Amino acid sequence: MTATSDWLLSESLAPVVSSDPLEPLYAGAVRGVLVLPFCADCSLALDLEQHGCDGCGSLRIDWRETARTGVVHSSTTMHRLEPGLVTASGPYPIVDVELADGHRLIMTTVDPAQRAPQIGDTVAVAFRNLAGVAIPAAQPINSTDTEDTNDNH
Ligand SMILES: [Zn+2]
Repeated sequence: MTATSDWLLSESLAPVVSSDPLEPLYAGAVRGVLVLPFCADCSLALDLEQHGCDGCGSLRIDWRETARTGVVHSSTTMHRLEPGLVTASGPYPIVDVELADGHRLIMTTVDPAQRAPQIGDTVAVAFRNLAGVAIPAAQPINSTDTEDTNDNH
């Protein structure tokens, strides 16, 4: 498999994983799982950049594997294409997704999309490949059934 360019961003924006506070997220993505921060004491879902728990005040963070499905909380289409950074040729979707465990992730879609997923849509969290780093991205789920996609191997 050859490295493919991301459809949206310049490879210059790829994070340096080894020094990034989100390293557990990227490391999980390599294995195809979504790893997000939880409070180690009360298990509240934490924001990616959060350093302490709003619920119990704990500063202990536990990165855990979590369910990869969520519901679109808000959705927009970005028309500004930053020269040199955004390589997409047209407007692109940005969605704010609320995951089953309570995390919120702001992402674009896995593939270029003319139409952003709509509020209330169920999406899966998949990954884009930005210069070898896996970045979470929303993947619309078209069918209305709740079939569990079992990717474990
Ligand atoms: Zn807590």
